[in-house]
Amino acid sequence: MSKTTTANQADAAAGSDVVTSICQAILRRQRFLLTSHARPDGDTIGSQLAMAYALEALGKQVKLVNADAAPDHYREFPGVDRIEIAERSDAEADALIVMECSDLSRTGVAGLDGHFIINIDHHAGNRMYGALNWFDESAAACGEMVFDVIRALGVPLSREIATHIYLAILTDTGSFHHSNITPRTFDICRQAVEAGVNPAAMARRVFDSNSFGKLKLIGALLDAMELIDNGRLAVLYLDEGMLETCGCTHNDTEGVINLPLTAREIQAVVFFKAGATGEVRVSMRSKYDVDVRAVANAYGGGGHKNAAGFTVAGQLAEVRPQIIERLVTAVREGLKSRP
Ligand code: 5GP
Ligand code: MN
Repeated sequence: MSKTTTANQADAAAGSDVVTSICQAILRRQRFLLTSHARPDGDTIGSQLAMAYALEALGKQVKLVNADAAPDHYREFPGVDRIEIAERSDAEADALIVMECSDLSRTGVAGLDGHFIINIDHHAGNRMYGALNWFDESAAACGEMVFDVIRALGVPLSREIATHIYLAILTDTGSFHHSNITPRTFDICRQAVEAGVNPAAMARRVFDSNSFGKLKLIGALLDAMELIDNGRLAVLYLDEGMLETCGCTHNDTEGVINLPLTAREIQAVVFFKAGATGEVRVSMRSKYDVDVRAVANAYGGGGHKNAAGFTVAGQLAEVRPQIIERLVTAVREGLKSRP
């Protein structure tokens, strides 16, 4: 117990030093470019926009750029329409703040190398590519770290900032399911709620805003679901035909991967999305100590213990057996320490 406390205190001290440096760097500069990873999720959008509103509260100029558009159910959140979608950015800025990216290529945006970079991330394996780097794997969401920066800057939690911080945490904890949640997570959420966030409305907007087409797609995907290793591993497959039949786009697959985990026996899920380009996109989710990040790392991807992904070249039939084998091993390993 005392060991843990010491380690946490050391982390907190290291964190506060770099937070101070980040704040000083921000206060000395005027024009900011904010970016995050390709195929954005709630933490991506929430971290980016919370930071944007905080910087603007300080009178700074802010531009936002991402490689891909936000999934539909995030589009109504404040400021999402301000994010430029581009493969390259030549925007002038005094600093580039990159959130949620273990290396700069994760942004999917070219032309960013020349900037003074502030790197804020909670993904294991961060490459420390910035002039200032704050990496904290213990943060349940990058939004928790952004919250600390905003507080250290002395910016009050406006409704917009609180909404985006809460969005980041709500989504990156898998709606408070993942093993990365700490008392601090709830402390930040409490402050967000005090600042005007309505948790019920947030949950409905994020998780209960499916189209009828998406409900049909969920039915089709679950109907075709395969169960492996006595039902402990679930496998979902998407092909373009399913999207067409249900009148859906790729964006509509967001969140579907979490559904198999609602079955008690299922400990991990893998979702294969075969593209036309000879690549397979692989997303994984798991319960408790089943470590899907280790599987992602083996293929050059990343993420967190309970949520990770990667893209692999090849046809599904070729790449599938080895991925399944690694996942079955991860499930069996994880079950050994099951609470
Ligand atoms: P998703 O399955 O929702 O795409 O991603 C789950 C988690 O894994 C997220 O934290 C995401 O950032 C991470 N992740 C997904 N794909 C990749 C990838 O190709 N590379 C890395 N480094 N991380 C990924
Ligand atoms: Mn995140």
